[in-house]
Amino acid sequence: MATFKAWVVEKGAGGQSLTFRDFDEADFMDGDVTVRVTHSGLNYKDGLALTGRSPVVRRWPMIPGIDFAGVVETSDDPAYRPGDTVVLTGWGVGETHLGAYAEKARVNGAWLVPLPAGLSAEQAMAIGTAGYTAMLSLMALEAHGLTPEHGPALVTGASGGVGSVAVALLARAGWHVIASTGRDAEADYLRGLGAAEIIDRAELSVPGKPLAKERWAAAVDAVGSTTLANVLASTRADGAVAACGLAQGMDLPTSVAPFILRGVALLGINSVTTPQPKRREAWARLAAELDLDKLAAMTTRVGLQDVDRLGEEILSGKVRGRTVVTIA
Ligand code: NDP
Repeated sequence: MATFKAWVVEKGAGGQSLTFRDFDEADFMDGDVTVRVTHSGLNYKDGLALTGRSPVVRRWPMIPGIDFAGVVETSDDPAYRPGDTVVLTGWGVGETHLGAYAEKARVNGAWLVPLPAGLSAEQAMAIGTAGYTAMLSLMALEAHGLTPEHGPALVTGASGGVGSVAVALLARAGWHVIASTGRDAEADYLRGLGAAEIIDRAELSVPGKPLAKERWAAAVDAVGSTTLANVLASTRADGAVAACGLAQGMDLPTSVAPFILRGVALLGINSVTTPQPKRREAWARLAAELDLDKLAAMTTRVGLQDVDRLGEEILSGKVRGRTVVTIA
């Protein structure tokens, strides 16, 4: 019997439990590629899965962890051979399909991306789902026709994972970046990533007017709820907001005013099921455009044994930037 070590979420009469235990390979779910996982990341959704705070886990037992990098052990997919280094984000891994906080994973080859040239497996997971989502957000703003010449770009939840990478990417692309954060102490950190201005998130997190002073041409919003309503209300005419997160809440208490009176566009970002061509384009751009010194500055390393305490930490907004989980 072949087993490997994994964090496992189980559901019992007393609610959800999380244990670190041996997992039998015979209990793997269907998939045509088996990967020795070397690194994973910590994302907001991992916090929800680890704590059971929201019902992101929809199959029990579940190995949480929504993204990984690792080395192919066996493959029935002609696109991958043993020894290839691969990256996975999304596709329900860690939610409906056994996930990343484990020494091994079996997944569909169609979900994988080869490790982009120029990145190590650790750097790929320092970027992780959050950084990849930041790139999808930048791509959506660009596809809308926006450039730094149109005006500043706002990033909300700026000290978090999506936010930190978004600040670095937008600054590198020439934008005047306004970083919104609730953490005064992270002002120097955000300036180091390229933020030109810092604003207090309290300005945006309480209900405001349907239309307010025009302040930014573009925004990457990781926060949702009242914050997103205020972000829309202060977006310049014909600007756009890439909505990717819900750290404040799932609701959106807004009006049609920014859309019909200013032509503001709300661009939805879904990183989970992005088709392969766009996925690979995003990873290639991350490898080419993300300053690796800035990536290092936003990265904290932990071991697989630390995962159980990290769920609460990320949900309470205490985690800065990105956290890489080293597995092997
Ligand atoms: P993090 O926890 O790292 O970042 C979230 C940040 O939001 C925090 O660091 C904090 O930033 C801010 N924040 C937290 N709570 C609140 C609050 N109550 N009100 C206002 N701001 C708050 O998470 P991630 O970066 O991993 O993810 C960010 C969001 O993006 C999550 O909601 C996540 O689910 C979503 N997401 C969506 C994806 C998609 O496919 N659409 C993919 C990846 C993530 P600060 O302290 O600077 O204010």
